[in-house]
Amino acid sequence: MGILQSNMKIGILGGGQLAMMMIQMSTKHNIDFIVIDPNENPPASKYAKCIKSTFTDKSSLDTLIKECDVVTIDFENVPSESLRYLEEYVTVSPGSHAVEICQDRLKEKLMFNRNNIPTTEYKVIDTESDLARAIEELGVDTILKSRKLGYDGKNQISMNNLATADVWNKSGKVEAILEKKINFKTELSIIGVCTKSGDSFFYPLVENFHRNGILDTSIAPYNDKKLQKKAEAYHRKISKELNYVGVLVIEFFLDHDGILIANEMAPRVHNSGHWTNEGANISQFEAHILAISDISFAKLSMKGNSAMLNILSKMPDKKLIEKSNNYQIYDYGKTERRNRKLGHITCIDNDRDVLEEKISTLKNIIF
Ligand code: ADP
Ligand code: MG
Repeated sequence: MGILQSNMKIGILGGGQLAMMMIQMSTKHNIDFIVIDPNENPPASKYAKCIKSTFTDKSSLDTLIKECDVVTIDFENVPSESLRYLEEYVTVSPGSHAVEICQDRLKEKLMFNRNNIPTTEYKVIDTESDLARAIEELGVDTILKSRKLGYDGKNQISMNNLATADVWNKSGKVEAILEKKINFKTELSIIGVCTKSGDSFFYPLVENFHRNGILDTSIAPYNDKKLQKKAEAYHRKISKELNYVGVLVIEFFLDHDGILIANEMAPRVHNSGHWTNEGANISQFEAHILAISDISFAKLSMKGNSAMLNILSKMPDKKLIEKSNNYQIYDYGKTERRNRKLGHITCIDNDRDVLEEKISTLKNIIF
């Protein structure tokens, strides 16, 4: 892969840190970007032309149609009618159909189920009596999750012994699923890059640790050849059905019997893949941009063991972290807010034990 004289222009719906890193990590390819975001000065606006508008504003979408070769997303809750409108005139990767499925936990689960991919046990909830009946069947060790607009553990309520009516009211009475809690051994994700010609390339499985439903640390690789093959096979089934182009991520629970249980998927680059910026020859961001641009890329390879720690709520004193070598800090330039993802730190090391030590040093500084 050399430096390409590409005159591509890519539109991105959403200008958050994911769009920012797609642009930053693709500078050597001479690709221009236009971003649409409803917020003032989103993270990506420092690096590309940014149109401040809603995702449904027709004149902004028309600008993308006129100027771009391909349009992509940095978050999955873009209105699907906007993607469908764009799709009539310009390539959209991933397409509206894939995004629509990933916007709805029930559609995602049904897709996993029809592809014989294990999921948690769940029931569809549209009314309070559905919820009462589902609790009788699945028990109280369950979570009520809204079908749509959930992220970072939001719009989820643990049933425990709470009164059904209270939970139903608190949930906002939106269409939901009740899901059985899994006593998992750990959580894993598979990040795959799908090309236009139908090939898929994979990073090694990533082990993910969450706190309060929010990702806090990712470590790669999770070395297990059988699980890697299984996760890749599941990913291929899904991407084939969706005719998927670009990066697609599936999150799994690994249970104590060694079974991979699909949790959810993301039709985009993913927080559990941020380590690839330093830990792989091609990052997930660059790989996504190359795949949707139909530009071929080298075989993926890793540089030892990698870790990524999210910085939530408050940026730490960077001097404290910079003192310790081999760390890369990313500051998304966002205003501090409780549980908001403000940046992340990656570190790599050939020695797994040394990496674990680095992680605990960093945790003492940032948590
Ligand atoms: P989000 O879209 O907010 O990431 P998830 O369904 O992935 O929603 O839930 C966030 C996290 O909450 C998971 O990564 C996991 O740690 C925990 N969690 C979610 N569902 C379950 C479950 N059924 N059993 C155990 N833990 C769960
Ligand atoms: Mg999740």
